[in-house]
Amino acid sequence: MKAAVYHGIGDIRIEEIKTPICGPGEVMVKVNYCAICGTDVRIYFHGHKKVIPPAVIGHEITGAIEETGSGIDYPEPLKKGDKVALVTSIGCGKCKMCGKGLYNLCPDTKAIGYFYPGGYAEYVIVPADAVKQKAVIKLPEGMSLKEGALIEALSCAINGQSYLNIEKGDTVVIYGGGPIGFMHAVLAQASGASMLIMADPAYERLEKFGKQFKGLILLNPKKTSIKDEVLRLTDGYGADVVITACPAKQAQVEGLEILGSRGRISFFGGLPKDDSFINIDSNIIHYKEISVFGAFASNRKDFVRAAELISQKKIEAGKFISRVLPLEQINEGIEMVKAGDVLKCVVEISSP
Ligand SMILES: [Zn+2]
Ligand SMILES: [Zn+2]
Repeated sequence: MKAAVYHGIGDIRIEEIKTPICGPGEVMVKVNYCAICGTDVRIYFHGHKKVIPPAVIGHEITGAIEETGSGIDYPEPLKKGDKVALVTSIGCGKCKMCGKGLYNLCPDTKAIGYFYPGGYAEYVIVPADAVKQKAVIKLPEGMSLKEGALIEALSCAINGQSYLNIEKGDTVVIYGGGPIGFMHAVLAQASGASMLIMADPAYERLEKFGKQFKGLILLNPKKTSIKDEVLRLTDGYGADVVITACPAKQAQVEGLEILGSRGRISFFGGLPKDDSFINIDSNIIHYKEISVFGAFASNRKDFVRAAELISQKKIEAGKFISRVLPLEQINEGIEMVKAGDVLKCVVEISSP
């Protein structure tokens, strides 16, 4: 089969590799689309401890079931031709977190597109453990496979916001104008947030894509003090919710400072692993009863919710998918995402 094989940093080649065989308990999916994630870009430029080259990456996958292995026990029947998306995180199935269905938090989590071969290939195998954990999600009726390629990214934003209790009338500040930042904005609006403020020093991109969405206040931290502006816009109260959808310390520190009482903050984006300490005044958290949350990846229920929101057009896929490229141009796609020329770039492996 045709695949984009990652051979190491900066080196992805289109090659003919052996088509995998669908074993007992496994599901084989013919991949139609795989969207490029920020993590794919990081793997390409910096490598990843769980991605051992040569490897096929890509985890924002949609396609059609090609084959099902023997002995599969599933709530709904899985059959050839079913349009599906795949949950990325696979847990060990034995630990405390897996016992709660929180496979993303399993200390031994093994993800599709990292540890297991991913979606930048004609076929992908859903490992037996993943099938047991119900990682195969059938797309809702009427949803296109291309739109479905957004499910994974959206599911991560949904998991992040599940902690934040965004309510009617809330002011939400989002740091980071990438696809995830905009997904957070639209989700927060759907939860009733009345004021949506987004900040990104890459202001040109923020403005270019921000225009497509309604009701966003866009700020350039290079020109405006985010803190002063948020206080001004909220009559001195501060934000109810802050989401840092970027790998910046400054956003985490400032995000805490702009929160009002009972504010909630999500450190949604991780910091570089060798530079992840921040200095904060913890009395802000104490006196204002601030809640600080993390978020990492997502689980089946978040995928199901994401699929619903996209199929109900609450998240308009067309606004997020800026480009569709064939597998042969994956390197170009990765460069585009890195440069911020696109929100989401979807790689088409085969047209449905
Ligand atoms: Zn992703
Ligand atoms: Zn586990």
